Amino acid sequence: MLARDESGGHCTALLPSPEEDQPAKKWPAGPLAIGDEVGESPRPMASTSVTRLYSDRVLSAGALLELDAAQTHHLRNVLRLGAGTRIALFNGGDGEWWGEIQHLGKDDGRVQVTEQRRRSRLEPDLWLVFAPLKRARIDYLVEKASELGVSVLVPTLTERTVVERLNLDRLRAHARAAAEQTERFTVPEIREPALLSGLLAHWPAERRLLACVETGAAPAIADRLAAERPGSWAVLVGPEGGFSDKELDGLVKLPFVCAVSLGPRVLRADTAAIAALSVLQACLGDWRASRGA
Ligand code: SAH
Repeated sequence: MLARDESGGHCTALLPSPEEDQPAKKWPAGPLAIGDEVGESPRPMASTSVTRLYSDRVLSAGALLELDAAQTHHLRNVLRLGAGTRIALFNGGDGEWWGEIQHLGKDDGRVQVTEQRRRSRLEPDLWLVFAPLKRARIDYLVEKASELGVSVLVPTLTERTVVERLNLDRLRAHARAAAEQTERFTVPEIREPALLSGLLAHWPAERRLLACVETGAAPAIADRLAAERPGSWAVLVGPEGGFSDKELDGLVKLPFVCAVSLGPRVLRADTAAIAALSVLQACLGDWRASRGA
């Protein structure tokens, strides 16, 4: 199943078959051997040497992109780059392009797009539904979920959720920074918070929901996933106070819910989310594709 993300990129069901992807060219093995590279320039061996910027503008040879104040500040004052430096620009629809910084002023900057670096590729159709956490933990969770390939993050309000105020702009900035750093083509979408009851009542029937329940009553995650198939998935983790009995009773009765245990220890919610996403990606998701695939 295909879906489009907010950045215009393609998402695909978990476990895109390698055939679905663009055929990869052979490059020397290295940390950047990912995607379908184009053009004559071999990729550098260290990803740290390439600055990647997400841009929602159309990327094509010769295009001139105006940078916003935050991007300009980052390039000029944090990375200390200047005119003439080559950076990479990307979005889900156009893929990744090389660009040359033409101007970096105090508040404004301009980059000229030169040539394509990698074509866009299909990315997982994987949601994370989580109860908001305190600032440091939620920032960490958004960053790690982005790195793990989550396409949509849905903050959900459960009976025991205690965090009321959520700065979505800050979370979106974290998601974008993580996408820039992790060589993705898309930036995860961060939805408005929604009540768990409402989310479940309007749940898309074809999407499986991997619900992490800490009671010890659910089967072990790896055993449970052995009986499942790739497709559209979501992971659900509860708040630090756990799900209420009523929520748990309701959850396990739903036909799209696959309730699992993450072992004998009670994990913090951020750890539980990262652990469940990792196991899901390893069993049914795109961890079976190498970076060079
Ligand atoms: N306060 C609760 C723990 C909540 S942990 C208690 O002491 O029982 C927060 C969330 O992380 C849980 O709602 C669940 O979604 C997930 N989680 C933590 N440990 C887990 C485990 N061992 N198995 C499955 N889910 C777990």
